[in-house]
Amino acid sequence: MGTINQLSTLIKISTIEKQSALSLHPELVNPIEYRKSGLSLNHIIGCPLDCAYCVRHIFDNFQMRKPQMLLPDADAVEYLISHSYFVPNQTPLQIFNRATDPFLREVKPHTFAVLEDLDARGLRNHVLVITRYQVTREDCARLNSLSSIKVTLLITYSGIADNRIEPISSAIAAKSLATAYKYADRYRVIFYWRPIIPGLNDSDEHIQRAKEISLCAHATVFTGLFYRDEIKKYYQSVGLPEPYTEIARRKILPSLTENRIVQAFSTGNASPLFRKTSCGVCYAHAVPDYNGHYGIREVCDICPPEQLTRCADVHRIPKLDEISSLAKGIGKAKNVKITQRSVILEGLNEQQRYFLQHAFAFQFHDVAKPHRIRRHGRAEIGWEHVDPNHF
Ligand code: SF4
Repeated sequence: MGTINQLSTLIKISTIEKQSALSLHPELVNPIEYRKSGLSLNHIIGCPLDCAYCVRHIFDNFQMRKPQMLLPDADAVEYLISHSYFVPNQTPLQIFNRATDPFLREVKPHTFAVLEDLDARGLRNHVLVITRYQVTREDCARLNSLSSIKVTLLITYSGIADNRIEPISSAIAAKSLATAYKYADRYRVIFYWRPIIPGLNDSDEHIQRAKEISLCAHATVFTGLFYRDEIKKYYQSVGLPEPYTEIARRKILPSLTENRIVQAFSTGNASPLFRKTSCGVCYAHAVPDYNGHYGIREVCDICPPEQLTRCADVHRIPKLDEISSLAKGIGKAKNVKITQRSVILEGLNEQQRYFLQHAFAFQFHDVAKPHRIRRHGRAEIGWEHVDPNHF
């Protein structure tokens, strides 16, 4: 309720139907959320694609299959660029990556309206657009016409054949990748290989097929599954085989699966492989990683040499007075400890930490949610046997 009133005051929302908005999860009503890959704008919610593992379960929104608009595009862009966390030409942005797909027929005009509005302002921020839907040659031409923002199209592909888990065929994503890559000029294309689930889509054949598909992208980013309580309950309610017996706060990708993929991509033809979204995006644009993963040295052991040099050249450990000065504008950071790998602190929430992380291009972690060596920020499931103090 408070969020809706606050937004109404701030941006004079005229199109939110308050009655329906009130029944939404508060996090969905707020169209802006700071996520690790960027400040995320989500003023359209609802998706008919029905992936069983969708994060919309977490917002109790899985039943909303028809995309609905919370506010007009122009207002949404104004809200985004006047947000206290937005820094022109610096803050990475994401469009419609939480509760819909930006290339659905009903959503696509709004995706382009937002991109073109940001571009017309001469902004040079990264903008990430994630889809698993159809990308046409005409879409590519329109993306190529953007002259200022750094657009990355991340095309989600899993290779999962069980249509109870993923009703939309992975062939659509594979075709979109081929089209997007063929016509890419001003924008870049990532083969976003996810969610990789042991026993479901990680066979040698799946990995070989992924290598082939990866050749239609400037880079490949691979990752696992978010398996939260709400998603587990959904799997149980519809009788789907559960991918894991446990849930986890972070994405799950067991070390054995990761090792097989890294090994497979190290030989033969494939596009460069990355564990982290921002690393793949930045490599594709030939710029250093904006999340500062370079401090977490083991993340970089699969990175191409030219990209290692780019990141090494700008990597700098922030000083305490710089951190204190910026942090006091957003919250109350306590017990700040600076290491070679990251800044570890208390008192700031995830979104506040991402603001600092992108400002300094250095990792900021909460003391209560430790990042252990060689885990690559993933859940413990499948990594229990890896000695956390051993490189
Ligand atoms: S050098 Fe490291 S931080 Fe930079 S893009 Fe590569 S993996 Fe990421």
